[in-house]
Amino acid sequence: MCIAGMDMHVEVDVLAEYFDALTSVEQTRWIETHLAECDACADLAGKLFANSVLLDEWTARGVKAAKDIKSAVETERSTTLVERVRQAVGW
Ligand SMILES: [Zn+2]
Repeated sequence: MCIAGMDMHVEVDVLAEYFDALTSVEQTRWIETHLAECDACADLAGKLFANSVLLDEWTARGVKAAKDIKSAVETERSTTLVERVRQAVGW
């Protein structure tokens, strides 16, 4: 893993480790500093965080559907999350 300087973006894998509290103190400091200054990475982090909360082990496909899934979950809480996810992505 490379966190050489401020001219690079936070990689998705690193963000995932950050949300799982697996990054070092130095990495966490760099990530948080970068997210505060970079709209692109802050947006990505927001999507990744929402995705990880809703779908835990899902991948990039879930990021695209996360917004629809969120509204679906809020609309019909009696149905299980897994069923809502499957409907949202057309499984
Ligand atoms: Zn960035």
